[in-house]
Amino acid sequence: MTAVAVPYAEDGLFPPCPIAGCQGITETEGQPCAGCRELFGDYLTHDPAGRPMTTPEVIAHKAATLDAYRTMTAPLSDLPPELPPETRTALDELHARFDAPRDKTRKANQRCWCCEERHTCTRNARGLWECDTCRTVEQ
Ligand SMILES: [Zn+2]
Ligand SMILES: [Zn+2]
Repeated sequence: MTAVAVPYAEDGLFPPCPIAGCQGITETEGQPCAGCRELFGDYLTHDPAGRPMTTPEVIAHKAATLDAYRTMTAPLSDLPPELPPETRTALDELHARFDAPRDKTRKANQRCWCCEERHTCTRNARGLWECDTCRTVEQ
């Protein structure tokens, strides 16, 4: 599990805001911070039967969310090897879909002609896949 830097959480002054993308602190443990309440307003749903997350739960939740984002956006070559093949394929398709409209000359998990490792590569002038590291070295 990746450790997430949560300011002020460790010295126990204020608990971290439970909203996954928020780095802020909150006054009441498990409740969104003032900034998030203002920002999200009615989008924040309150479950009367639920209970507020404790600070360790909030930290674990943030770490898991960040991990998921990292996995979704990481080059396929950087993904953990224990990832099931179907997840890998799904991510590959996801990458392809997002990469396609942006730049057809850039693709994840290509073998770089120069270092022969698999990276997210760009087609160079000669039509060969080249990774970012080799591209900067050559220029
Ligand atoms: Zn917040
Ligand atoms: Zn390379």
